[in-house]
Amino acid sequence: MVFATLLAVNHLRPGVFNEHKLLKAEPTWQLARTKVENQINSPWMTRIETGRTPINVLKHGPSDRPKLALTFDDGPHGKVTYELLKLLKREQVNATFFVVGQMTQTRHQMIKQMVREGHEIANHSFSHPDLAKLDLLDILTEYKATQLAVEEITGKQPRYCRPPGGRMDEKTLRAASALGLTTVYWNSNPGDYKFTDPNDILNKLRETRQNGSIILLHSGLPATVEALKTYIPESIEMGFDFVLLDAWDGQETSSNPFPRTAITGYKSRSTATML
Ligand SMILES: [Zn+2]
Repeated sequence: MVFATLLAVNHLRPGVFNEHKLLKAEPTWQLARTKVENQINSPWMTRIETGRTPINVLKHGPSDRPKLALTFDDGPHGKVTYELLKLLKREQVNATFFVVGQMTQTRHQMIKQMVREGHEIANHSFSHPDLAKLDLLDILTEYKATQLAVEEITGKQPRYCRPPGGRMDEKTLRAASALGLTTVYWNSNPGDYKFTDPNDILNKLRETRQNGSIILLHSGLPATVEALKTYIPESIEMGFDFVLLDAWDGQETSSNPFPRTAITGYKSRSTATML
C-alpha cells in the first residue's frame, strides 16, 4: 500500500492538478502529525481557529520596476529539472521551486544543487492534495511535513508555500501563516501544462510579461524549458531582471482575500510561533 501511494505522487503529471490522497504512512508525515497534535489546545492553535493568526499572501511585485519572478510547481522531476537548472545557471537567473515534499525524498542531490546555485526551495504540500477540502490538522500536517522534509536536506525550512492547484480557503492561509509561511500566488499564468509546442508557451509568456510578475510554470515539462531558452535572454535584453520572491519583501504586494481580518504582511512573520 505504501509503495502504491509513493508511486502515485512520483507520477504526478506535471502541471495538471492531480489531487492525491494524504500519504499518512510516510514517516515524515507521521512526525509532522505528532508535532501538530502536540499543539492541540495550545494558544497557537486557538489563534488559528479563531482567525487571529494574520494572513500573509504575496500575489505580485511592484509594477514600477522591470522585475520578474519565475516559479516552478510540482517538482522536483528528474532529467527535465536538471535541464532547467542547466539553463538557469547558464543565464545566471534564479527561480523559486515549489516542491512536493514526498517527491524531494528521492532527490536530495537535486535539491542541494538548487540551493547551491542560489534558487529558493518553497513548499507545495507533502502529498499534493486539495488543501481546501481538508480539516485544519491535515492542512497543518501537509505543510509541516514538507517543512521537515526540506529542512532535512537543506538545513532550512521554506519561507513560502503555494497550495496545490492554487486551491485554498481561509484556514489554508492561516495554517500557512502559523507555520511562518507566506502563501504565494501568481499574476502571470501562461498555462504551460496545456501545451506541448514551446512556441505556444513562449507566446503566452510574452503576452503576460509585465513588471512585478510572479510567473506560474511547472517543473518536468520539456516544452517549458525550451520556451524559457528564448524567453529568459530576450527578457534580459529588454531590461528585465529575474528575482527571487524576497526581493519584494516589505513592498506593497500583499492583498487579503479576507478583508475583515487584519493583514500585517511580511513583518509579522517573525511573530508567528513556529512548530
Ligand atoms: Zn501542483
